[in-house]
Amino acid sequence: MSANSETIDLICRLLEFDTVSSKSNLPLIQWVEKYLLAHGIKSCLSFDPAGGKANLFATVGGQDSGGIVLAGHTDTVPVEGQNWTKPPFCGTVSDGKLFGRGAVDMKSFIGICLALVPELQRSPGKRPIHLALTFDEETSMLGARTLVADLRDRGVRPLACLVGEPTQLKAVVGHKGRRALRCCVSGRSAHSSLPAQGVNAIEHASRIISHLRSMAERHRLHEERHYGYDVPYSTIVTTRIVAGVSTNTVPPECSFDFEFRHLPWTSPDELEAEIRAFAESVVRSDMVKEWSGCDIRFDIESSLPAFGSSCSGEGLATGAAELLELLGRRDAPLGYMAFATEASLFQQAGIPTIVCGPGSIEQAHKPDEYITLTQVAAGEQLLRQLVRANQ
Ligand SMILES: [Zn+2]
Repeated sequence: MSANSETIDLICRLLEFDTVSSKSNLPLIQWVEKYLLAHGIKSCLSFDPAGGKANLFATVGGQDSGGIVLAGHTDTVPVEGQNWTKPPFCGTVSDGKLFGRGAVDMKSFIGICLALVPELQRSPGKRPIHLALTFDEETSMLGARTLVADLRDRGVRPLACLVGEPTQLKAVVGHKGRRALRCCVSGRSAHSSLPAQGVNAIEHASRIISHLRSMAERHRLHEERHYGYDVPYSTIVTTRIVAGVSTNTVPPECSFDFEFRHLPWTSPDELEAEIRAFAESVVRSDMVKEWSGCDIRFDIESSLPAFGSSCSGEGLATGAAELLELLGRRDAPLGYMAFATEASLFQQAGIPTIVCGPGSIEQAHKPDEYITLTQVAAGEQLLRQLVRANQ
């Protein structure tokens, strides 16, 4: 089994566009738009507020509704500070591998989809196939949020969605949700020899952090398990802290970041409400006794719902079950994974979704990112199977 050379050429073309999330993806999107148009397919673009980035949605065979969405993000993580021995923004084939930023995450999947277009156009199947390319997946997921809103507004209701993130072609039906928050504790500064004149923001922040730690411990010990995951319970972690003025000053400010990575049955709203209530009724109420100007503020930095809910696959939505059938994966073991994807947003929008794509996440985000040519070929085979089963 070896990868088609036209597919490799298409992937290499995509790798030539520097679509690091901080930059515009428009040159890539316009190139894909032209490619599709050359095959008689019109694309629909949806933009970010500044107009510098776009999603592309195009339908091959039939009208907009029903059908299977093949979804991939066009942006990549940066290359700065990484020790690349291959040029990141051009495809290099060597040693049975294809190197380049985005090779595995996830321009190969997009290239495989594009290579399939002429065939799809020649013999459209029972259900239309949609291509959905997004922006900003690696950052805010604004692209997918904009895309699903656009589909809703235009009344496009796909049957199911395949997100081609690298799972080594295992069909993944769930990942945890993630909510990241920042907490800013404001106290009052004083000379450290006179601590009673100040309110120590670090010390009060640490009480909130300790409470987060006890919540994490409670989930580790008592939460209902989801054995599909390496860590079968929701986790709560404080990840960063910024505070302090000097070694002889009572610190007036302390801010820290923390996150919940939650199972589908654990509500991030409830976790957030619990920590806010503790901060307000226990910590802040102590602080204002010392000085009325004290405050504690929480901001959500990002929030992504959990994807999937069933341990066994029995609870799969009809569209997802049908998609698994089309992919020839109905009886294969289903997987759960640690990293978050746009699948949660498609699913939240009412589109049953599965994550399944070529390559391994192990090679993503690293210097000399690559995908093996065997995985490219296996990815082609998977989509060919979908096209055949859709006839
Ligand atoms: Zn990705």
